[in-house]
Amino acid sequence: MNAILNETHDPALRSWVASANRDGTDFPIQNLPFGVFRRAGSGEALRIGVAIGDQIADLDGLVQAGVLDTLAPGTRAAIAGQTSLNALMALGRPAWSALRLALSQLLRAGADEMPAALVAQADAEYALPARIGDYTDFYTSIHHATAVGRLFRPDEPLLPNYKWVPIGYHGRASSIGVSGQQFRRPLGQTRAPGATAPSFGPCKRLDYELEVGIFIGAGNALGEPIAIGAAEQAVFGLCLLNDWSARDLQAWEYQPLGPFLAKNFASTISPWVVTLEALAPYRAAWQRNADDPQPLPYLDDASLRISGAFDITLEVAIQSAAMRSAGEPAARVSQSNFRDSYWTVSQLVAHHTVNGCNLQPGDLLGSGTQSGPDADQAGSLLELTAGGKQTIDVGGEARTFLEDGDCVVMRGWAEAEGRPRIGFGEVSGTVLPAAGGLALRA
Ligand code: MN
Repeated sequence: MNAILNETHDPALRSWVASANRDGTDFPIQNLPFGVFRRAGSGEALRIGVAIGDQIADLDGLVQAGVLDTLAPGTRAAIAGQTSLNALMALGRPAWSALRLALSQLLRAGADEMPAALVAQADAEYALPARIGDYTDFYTSIHHATAVGRLFRPDEPLLPNYKWVPIGYHGRASSIGVSGQQFRRPLGQTRAPGATAPSFGPCKRLDYELEVGIFIGAGNALGEPIAIGAAEQAVFGLCLLNDWSARDLQAWEYQPLGPFLAKNFASTISPWVVTLEALAPYRAAWQRNADDPQPLPYLDDASLRISGAFDITLEVAIQSAAMRSAGEPAARVSQSNFRDSYWTVSQLVAHHTVNGCNLQPGDLLGSGTQSGPDADQAGSLLELTAGGKQTIDVGGEARTFLEDGDCVVMRGWAEAEGRPRIGFGEVSGTVLPAAGGLALRA
């Protein structure tokens, strides 16, 4: 059910957009991820686009040009004049699939070339791809949960519910920004080890979290759970997500109700949403060790063992202010893979709705930090530095946690034998100094 291939996945397809045929592009014609853009600094209306090579195909322009007239009127209405993907997301999988096929046919080599429908990505600025009504962050990497648990609770790193329940919390949608986001180092309460009272000031242990974002498409009515076998039909696509985290605030506040101000000051996502249909050739079997509890029936489906997981390589790089001044690129600090997740996308959707909770078009789920089994596959500085006890090298500078001016860049891509590589582009974000005293009192 998860991995139906069609002509849009044909590895032999080429595009009349030459850059889409180059080795190493994130956006060959087999990808076709959706985003919202305009020419930078133009004041133009935001509109929906699809990445192709180093260009963006302007979908509003394609509708106006009449070349998408084979699509249902409702699909064209969900594109033309829209400043977010929400209306398109609400249409559901058959409409998304028909649109993908039409775009593949319009952009492939041999079709009429329409250079006027393209905007160079280098000339574009992006908005959030959707109006995000609700944001939920999960905790699906058992490697991350165990490593972090060991730091926060050495006596009981992995709580007994972990292997039964996809753990999550309701996050904050208002502070989610698109790649390029800059935010001030948060202020807050922290308590030093051994101190009896907290102090107030700038966060000293600012961290990133390497995550996959899951955009909900059609959603469900209140009181009507989404069965696991239908869960992927409710998902529009995946993006990259950096869930910035203030570890010192987190350690003091997180019990008994979970993360709060340690997490809600900023979260950053990539501008491009890669559809599940585009990811169909890059699926992997999901496994649950025989000596671990098997999922309860509502979280289990035979198809999980065939193709429940996504084989997506994820990478974090950091560029300090000094590196930026010197023109040096961000230096890679770790790499992991989404296929190592303990829970699948479909399990998250089924679990989130099993009590009747309704998901809506444009809702965002975070996968939780994706750390692999090896130490150098950790998706946060908290893990890479053993809770700040050891430093890592970032372009010749020592780091435990993030410094002001640091830019964190995350990338993701999928590869498979005999298939083109497809990518997510990147999500970047930069830490600004904390607000000063005057700003605080104002
Ligand atoms: Mn997180």
